Amino acid sequence: MLKESKVIQMKCPKCSAQLKEIKVKIQDADSSVTSYQCGGCGYFDFEGKSMEKAISEIRAREAPLKIKQKIIKLSHDRLGMYINRDVARSLNLKGGEEVYVSVPDKNRLIVNLVHH
Ligand SMILES: [Zn+2]
Repeated sequence: MLKESKVIQMKCPKCSAQLKEIKVKIQDADSSVTSYQCGGCGYFDFEGKSMEKAISEIRAREAPLKIKQKIIKLSHDRLGMYINRDVARSLNLKGGEEVYVSVPDKNRLIVNLVHH
């Protein structure tokens, strides 16, 4: 868990002992988070910017693929939608697949792949 530790010129707000700067690796975040720890009283704090960076990295990983697209008009009352290359790649679509389309409510259109 601990990556490196060094003494910094910062004093503990509780007991005024010298704080140690310790880089902490968080699961699913690429960059490590800087923390300040006091050996005297156990005071512990995260450095704000490095924490925000790690959180945004975790969020980016958890976010499902979401792309804004336009419904296109094909002919009279037929509409269509292009399948973005990234979507096609993540679902391994080649073209010619059969899908089930369902409309669970007025805001959603769900396309389920038919697995043979
Ligand atoms: Zn302290």
